[in-house]
Formats: sequence, structure tokens, C-alpha cells
Amino acid sequence: MVIDCKQIANLIEEEIKPDAQRLKPRLGTIVVGSDEGTLSYMKSIKKVGERIGVLVDIINLSESKIDELIDLIKNLNLTADGILIGKPLPKWVDESKLVDTISPSKDIDCMHPVNLGRLFLNKPLFCPCTPEAVIEILNRSQIGVSGKDVVIIGRSDIVGKPLAIMLMQRGVDATITVCHTKTKDIEAHTKHADILIAAAGQPRFVNTQMVKEGAVVIDVGINVENGKIVGDVDFDEVSKIASWITPVPGGVGSVTSRVLMRNVVKAAKLRAKN
Ligand code: NAD
Repeated sequence: MVIDCKQIANLIEEEIKPDAQRLKPRLGTIVVGSDEGTLSYMKSIKKVGERIGVLVDIINLSESKIDELIDLIKNLNLTADGILIGKPLPKWVDESKLVDTISPSKDIDCMHPVNLGRLFLNKPLFCPCTPEAVIEILNRSQIGVSGKDVVIIGRSDIVGKPLAIMLMQRGVDATITVCHTKTKDIEAHTKHADILIAAAGQPRFVNTQMVKEGAVVIDVGINVENGKIVGDVDFDEVSKIASWITPVPGGVGSVTSRVLMRNVVKAAKLRAKN
């Protein structure tokens, strides 16, 4: 069955609307360069924000010096509730210098080392939005993870790695395997997964040979193939054997943008309290 991620996204939206409209939070997003994917992602975030009551500023700098970017973030630390840096960044930008400048209390996608440390210790201030969206989808679909064998394909700092940490925490209790480009015989791992999460950025990479009959398949991938958005999973084939599967588009991504807004609202609440 296909998981109705849009319905989950709408539910989250309705839940956060009252607080958003009361607090009128502001999210500052920074896009360096002209990557079309990043700009269109920020525009879609802005649209969601408009509906909920979160003001989203897209600050697009085509040419800039690292010192100017750092000053911009320092300014947003004082004026915005949340800060989001668009990725990929151009090669000349040292990402860690930017991330380290974000105040942890504005770091709504959990990139700052302090927030990642908190996440590691199971005391998160903010959880990274995409892994949090995956967990929301599982929870709201009543798919239990405790004791399940979960295989994640991908070990990025923003998706695979934090998702593995979050799913293995005490109280969540999944058993995790993380696969990556150097994994030998990936199929041997994925074939045993009760829950398979694909976050490799490889169009339709996961086929029926890699999936156990009746497994839950969560597709995080967003890839453009022949002008069409496709996931990391061969949806048409894998949906025939999976018990539950998320679609692309309209899957994890739609929940991620609402989780992002929820984190901005949380940051605004923190600001109001202090
Ligand atoms: P990334 O490129 O930083 O990381 C990809 C990971 O996948 C790497 O760890 C790599 O080792 C692994 N990988 C790549 N090819 C592989 C292969 N053939 N076999 C095994 N492992 C392989 O990407 P990312 O930022 O983690 O994003 C992953 C995908 O998720 C992309 O398609 C991206 O667009 C998408 N994404 C979606 C959302 C969302 O909200 N739905 C958010 C962020 C990223």
C-alpha cells in the first residue's frame, strides 16, 4: 500500500498553524550561487510558509566572500527564528565555517556540532528534518520499529547518519544497518530488511531483487531523470511486493517541509520564552 504522505504533511501543517499565526516566525534561508534545485526547494518552502504563517526570506547571493556570508549569518542570528543554508554549496564555500556560525537555537535543520552532539546523546534541541520526517511517516502509519531490522542506504551527515542514530536510540529500539558506496553485496543486507530506507541519490536504484516480500520501503531520494522527479526506488515494481511504500514526488519531501516549519515554530517559541 502507498503511504499517504501528503495527508501526514497536511496534519502537521494544521497542528502547527495556530502557534505559527500567533508567533509569526521568520525563517532566513541562504542560497549561494544559482543551483536551480536549491532555489526551487527554497521557493517551495516559502509557499508552505505562506500557508502556515511562517515568513520565509530567501537570500540569494550569486557572488560573495566567506566573511560576508558569516556576517549575514550573524545578522540572522539576531533577527530570524530559524536559519537554513541551501545545499549544495559552491566549492569555494567552507560549509563548516557557515554552520559553526549559526546559533544552535536557530539551527532548525540540526547541522551545528552542538545540536548533533545533543542528538547523539538523545537530548535533541532540533532533529534534522528529513530523518524526523521518515520517523513521523513510520509513526503516523502505525509501523512499529522496535526490534525491527532497518537497513538505510546512504550515510550522509544530513540524512543517513542522523537517521541511523535516531532509529537506534533507546525507546525507538530498531536494529540498524547502514549501507554505502563501499558496501559489499548490498543486496545481502537490504534483502533482510523489515524496513528499507533509500537515501542514496540514485534514480530507481532499489529493485525487487533487493527487497524482502512484505517489507516497508521508505524512499528519501529526489532525482531528476529525463525531466521527471523520481525516487531511489523502482516504485512501479517494488510497490508490488512491499507492504508499505512512500511515493516520489509527494512522499518524504512533503513531510520534510512541514517538519522544517514545525522546527521554526519551536525556535520561535524558544525565542519568545527567553
Ligand atoms: P549524499 O549524496 O550526500 O549521500 C548519498 C549517500 O548514498 C552516500 O553516503 C553514498 O555513500 C550513498 N550511496 C550513493 N550511491 C550508492 C550506491 N550505489 N550504493 C550504496 N550507497 C550509495 O545525498 P543526501 O544529501 O543524503 O541525499 C540522498 C537523496 O535524498 C538525494 O536524492 C537527495 O535529493 C534526497 N533528499 C531528499 C530529502 C527529502 O526531504 N525527501 C532531503 C534531503 C535529501
